[in-house]
Amino acid sequence: MKALAILIALASFLAVIPAFAASPAEEFRTGAGVVKITPIQHGSLTIEAGGQVIQVDPAVSGFGATAPDFGAVPKADVVLITDIHEDHLDPANLAKVRKAGTTVIIPGAASGDVRGGVVMKNGETRKIGAWTIEAVPMYNLKRGPAPGELYHDKGRGNGYVVTYGGLRIYLAGDTEGIPEMRALKNIDVAFVPMILPYTMPPAEAADAVKAFHPKVVYPYHYGKSDLKVFENGLRGAGIDVRIRNWY
Ligand SMILES: [Zn+2]
Repeated sequence: MKALAILIALASFLAVIPAFAASPAEEFRTGAGVVKITPIQHGSLTIEAGGQVIQVDPAVSGFGATAPDFGAVPKADVVLITDIHEDHLDPANLAKVRKAGTTVIIPGAASGDVRGGVVMKNGETRKIGAWTIEAVPMYNLKRGPAPGELYHDKGRGNGYVVTYGGLRIYLAGDTEGIPEMRALKNIDVAFVPMILPYTMPPAEAADAVKAFHPKVVYPYHYGKSDLKVFENGLRGAGIDVRIRNWY
């Protein structure tokens, strides 16, 4: 009986994972209807609400066991690109999620690689339909490929805060626990990276998350990081830590 119950639970769990995704969609209720967020892989995810689709960093990363099929994801009304690195900006897969009229928001450094991209700088806000999109900083404080260099220089890439129906979603991008992250206010759902050497280790990520205190946090862009450390770092903090498979 117990085995059967587990099988049934497993079957219903598997049934809701779209073919292109690593995990089932997460749903959030808002004043303007449900927001659905689907982890695709690594730093790639889909946000859907009000019949509109946002694709975040549609890219094949090399961190996953298999490459997601971006030909099968819902076509984007809006694409958000965080950075120029190949696990975020992947022109071939970006092309697969575009349709006529897709708005592709990019940091200025990506201009040469994205035809018709709309540049947003850190600190800028834009309204697209029912969405409000704010570009926020993402950068390294100390980690880089050589002394005096950083993997991500301040101002080059964008994290984003996306608001729909009052729900505020923070997409951190590739960053360490920068002061601008720690100072964020009223974040409902946060996606925070933890991969070394490019971003930060799980303990640092947990410490930064504690500072801005989102209601819900998902580690993403985590590779082989020890997510237990992240979870333990936030134990008792009153934050809903949601570990999902992104690979
Ligand atoms: Zn990355």
